[in-house]
Amino acid sequence: MTAAKNVAQMPTKWIWDGLVDSSGEMPRLLGSRCPSCGNTFYPPVKDCPTEVLQGKAESVALSGRGRIVSFSVIQRGLPGFASPYALANIELEEGPTCIAQLEDWDSAALTLGQPVEFVVGVIRTDEDGDAVFGPKFKPTTEGGQA
Ligand SMILES: [Zn+2]
Repeated sequence: MTAAKNVAQMPTKWIWDGLVDSSGEMPRLLGSRCPSCGNTFYPPVKDCPTEVLQGKAESVALSGRGRIVSFSVIQRGLPGFASPYALANIELEEGPTCIAQLEDWDSAALTLGQPVEFVVGVIRTDEDGDAVFGPKFKPTTEGGQA
């Protein structure tokens, strides 16, 4: 299972609503799937962009597993971003790709094709100094265990 925080530790400020289902024991990464063409999307969408079908895509929990397609270590980020941090282009198991921050990464150990899994983590701090949370990905070994 993922190393994501349990519900008792769930954050209140999110980088973007609707990316994480935190209603259960463990947070789940949310995407959407079109019942017509079967394509899966992340971030979630309401309209299928493949077929331009309005309102047809349905919310679906994703496995949270993926692989690093490319990555970059940001040495000096924008205000509110703790630097350095790593950004990766991740191909999710269900097919979609996304750009996300990595968690518990080691720049010397990052490799292309490396498996990652979804965790909830701090993306940045806001103007009040509060942590803003969102989906991040943690490098794992092939078996999916950290
Ligand atoms: Zn579709």
